[in-house]
Amino acid sequence: MTPEEFRAHGKQVVDWIADYLAGIEAHPVRSQSAPGDVRAALPAHPPERGEPFEAVLADLDRVVLPGITHWQHPSFFAYFPANASGPAILGDLLSSGLGVQGMVWATSPACTELETVVVDWLAELLGLPAHFTFAEGSAGGGVIQDSASSAALVALLAALDRAGGGVPAAAGLSGRHTVYVSSQTHSAVEKAARITGIGAENVRIVDVDPHTLAMLPADLDAKIAADIAAGATPVLVCATVGTTGTTAVDPVADIGAVCRDRGLWLHVDAAYAGVAAVCPEMRWINDGVAEFADSYATNPHKWLLTNFDCTVLWVADRAPMVDALSILPEFLRNTATESGEVIDYRDWQISLGRRFRALKLWSAIRWYGAEGLRAHIRSGIALAAGFAGHVRADERFLLHEPHPFGLVCFRPLWTGLDVDAENAATLAMLERLNDSGALYLSHTKVSGRVLLRLAVGVPTTRREHLDAAWDRIREEYEGPA
Ligand SMILES: *Cc1c(COP(=O)(O)O)cnc(C)c1O
Repeated sequence: MTPEEFRAHGKQVVDWIADYLAGIEAHPVRSQSAPGDVRAALPAHPPERGEPFEAVLADLDRVVLPGITHWQHPSFFAYFPANASGPAILGDLLSSGLGVQGMVWATSPACTELETVVVDWLAELLGLPAHFTFAEGSAGGGVIQDSASSAALVALLAALDRAGGGVPAAAGLSGRHTVYVSSQTHSAVEKAARITGIGAENVRIVDVDPHTLAMLPADLDAKIAADIAAGATPVLVCATVGTTGTTAVDPVADIGAVCRDRGLWLHVDAAYAGVAAVCPEMRWINDGVAEFADSYATNPHKWLLTNFDCTVLWVADRAPMVDALSILPEFLRNTATESGEVIDYRDWQISLGRRFRALKLWSAIRWYGAEGLRAHIRSGIALAAGFAGHVRADERFLLHEPHPFGLVCFRPLWTGLDVDAENAATLAMLERLNDSGALYLSHTKVSGRVLLRLAVGVPTTRREHLDAAWDRIREEYEGPA
């Protein structure tokens, strides 16, 4: 494709995306494809001769779109949002256009240095401590990862390195190591324990408060003490700010005090909710982070207007992480690395190669400014609070509280059913709602009961979308027409 051909087709693609986003409400939110539909509509074999780009665009409409669940639809309320925005899409396009691979500083200095500035910007916007930035005298810093799961794995490898006195986990774990989570912690931490060789059987599930679902520090301390008495080496605690199920907030300061006493690494997983701290009135979610967190991760790709993938991981001390992950094969030797004056981000992540992800976050932050980012978060919280008000006012539904962010969990109350039958009725109602294409919700389970989850956060969602969702939910509750 010549630059002139690229210019022409590039304009078609940008137009296609703009039309898609402008007309997104015409689509059913959840794809109505059956398994195999998309595959069956595609040729089994690749073309021998090149095709015009228009053929790709035609298949995008014919084959791909019907198999798309529209995450940017204003009535998409499932999981957590995966924000996209014009500036972030364009920033990502620029990254593709440059086509650089930023594994070490020398392979594109701007790819590394822009990232260091943008993660420092975000730390400042969120009110995170200076020791997470690259400020003069700081031992820490931030890095963009593909996902919060990778961030948890990197944190665990760093924690193992520190616990082992600088022996990387890759050298083989000596003895039994333990990791602490709650029943509400994301499964990424158990996965990281499996990958590192710690093993799922050495992941301890700390008790939570039955109402707030926040981890109980006293039980954490007791479980650590029991493991030490049994000869294990406790390594890491993961505290969550905004759990995936219900956005519960673990008491980071109290958990951190236990970690400090016992010498464990504290990783704070704020994948969804951490970005809410752009608003000063939400800064309470950072309580204890400055004093106690060894690492902290949040996902601008969920709720901060930045296309997937963009997780920012900060560490208070980069030495154990770099020690755990650095490799220097001959082909990567270069004078900049040897000078020690540059950051080589390959030592801050699992893979060697890396995309220029900072461009999309930089574009989004510059376009919206701090005030635009705050307005987006505030709108999500306010719309969620409005929806929660509907649920609270209707005695046929039970609202799960608190709901400090954009997620509202609730359940319909059914009369004359046991718990299993209630759960089945709630799930059947959820299926009918999602099948309708009018909205998309997800669910979780708390104390054996199914809760519906409605997560606000798509940038174009307005009050009318939530009012329509509430009408629809009540109609389905009252019975299929
Ligand atoms: C979404 C989520 C994750 C996983 O995020 P990925 O970036 O998809 O790996 C981890 N932890 C929490 C609390 C989450 O909400």
